[in-house]
Amino acid sequence: MGVSLVQELIVRKMKIYNSLNRQLEDFVPLNHEQVSIYSCGPTVYDYIHMGNARTALVTDIIRRYLVYRGYKVKLVQNLTDIDDKIINRAAELGVSAKQLAHQNGEAFFEDSQRLGIHPADVHPKATEHIPEMISLIQTLIDKGAAYVIDGSVYYRVNQFAEYGKLSNRKPEDLLAGARVEIDERKEDPRDFDMWKAAKPGEPSWDSPWGKGRPGWHIECSAMAMKHLGKTIDIHAGGEDLRFPHHENEIAQSELATGHTFARYWMHVAFLKIDGKRMGKSEQNFILLRDALDHYPTEVIRHFLISAHYRHPLDYNPESLAKSEGALRRLNNCLDALKKYDGQVDANETGVSPLQEAVETMKSRFTDAMDTDFNTAQALGAIFTLVSEVNRSFTTSNGADAPVFAQAYQALTETCEVLGIYNMDAQDGNDVEQRDQLIALLLDIRQEARSRKDWDTSDKIRDSLKELNIEIQDTRDGATWKIIS
Ligand code: AMP
Ligand code: ZN
Repeated sequence: MGVSLVQELIVRKMKIYNSLNRQLEDFVPLNHEQVSIYSCGPTVYDYIHMGNARTALVTDIIRRYLVYRGYKVKLVQNLTDIDDKIINRAAELGVSAKQLAHQNGEAFFEDSQRLGIHPADVHPKATEHIPEMISLIQTLIDKGAAYVIDGSVYYRVNQFAEYGKLSNRKPEDLLAGARVEIDERKEDPRDFDMWKAAKPGEPSWDSPWGKGRPGWHIECSAMAMKHLGKTIDIHAGGEDLRFPHHENEIAQSELATGHTFARYWMHVAFLKIDGKRMGKSEQNFILLRDALDHYPTEVIRHFLISAHYRHPLDYNPESLAKSEGALRRLNNCLDALKKYDGQVDANETGVSPLQEAVETMKSRFTDAMDTDFNTAQALGAIFTLVSEVNRSFTTSNGADAPVFAQAYQALTETCEVLGIYNMDAQDGNDVEQRDQLIALLLDIRQEARSRKDWDTSDKIRDSLKELNIEIQDTRDGATWKIIS
């Protein structure tokens, strides 16, 4: 890389689409030493599904890329461990809300780890921050921005002139589509509860307003400010959280402190299935842990980042099969390149077309990721280089060998940012090994068929089907595909 390009990369700013201002903006962190990120984590009443995983993975990639760009990052991702859904599910199952939340919190960490998501620097739990929430609510009462009715505390929306700025809704639209509880006692239907008076049999905590529990929005305001200060750089979550959750977080935090709460708001578009949002309430979800039982980590990561995070993505077996194919090509290419790693001093090489391709890939990757973390284009850059390397293997008669080490380095570095190649784990070869085993079984089946041993042939076909691998007999021989 020439000096001018290096300099350009250092001064060039990343751009983030800020959903607050609905535009692409230069990313300038408040403190150049450390970028602060708060990401709304799961409500732990069940295992997480692939939709939740998409949002969590995007946050992981944002952090990995910022680190790659030389920033220090502090990431906080909360666990909502007290909520109506948890209380209701625990009652159905006959366990305590605490026990249910604990089990699902542990399962969330386990699933995230299996997906290669690095743990956040802090994973605060709502139930461990009740004093901070009470103190924030008290501040808002003292400022006249909240009122108490029968032991519940409500936020007075008309005290915050900028209410609606994130969701870009006019006051009259603010109720449309939102799950705002009808409560005749509220001064204004838009007001929302920050503290809910205890109901019999529900978990509760002492407060100046009597026993009760926090509302969901105050939880995130209090935990974000406790761990990241009054102003954070990036606040992320799924697009369903923009209103009312994030709008209410802004209202509470900014009225309490007088400071901007989050400088860049990022919202991840939905993972869909059959055109509908994947969600617990829609009953159309695929649990992340089930997907991880069928596909390697890197395949699921590749699939989830194959679209830019602001575009919806459809879950279907065909797309996952495409990701499997892509990962197979990538792993084969990296395996072939590995033996050149460290063998060549890059300075000794002349400029060849493959070397140009390596440089082009690096700058296309950075351009894509610098422009609002465009993982789809970043993958495009990586796979173009994979094709170039493969072409070179077959056509260059070894002339490109000196550049292979550079290609290997560039590919592994960028793939590590996206977490689609794990150099340490041998399971990078899992897919290839599986494919070889299936090919072997198909050979054995073919031999059995030529002996008219239909029992063995059927047994192989049926056993593979139980493992979600479907054999199709064609005129050119048997082929197979993953089904789900
Ligand atoms: P929840 O457990 O419902 O509070 O969701 C945890 C996180 O996953 C939040 O940031 C949600 O916005 C996000 N999320 C939920 N469903 C989807 C989906 N289908 N696609 C993308 N993100 C989602
Ligand atoms: Zn939140």
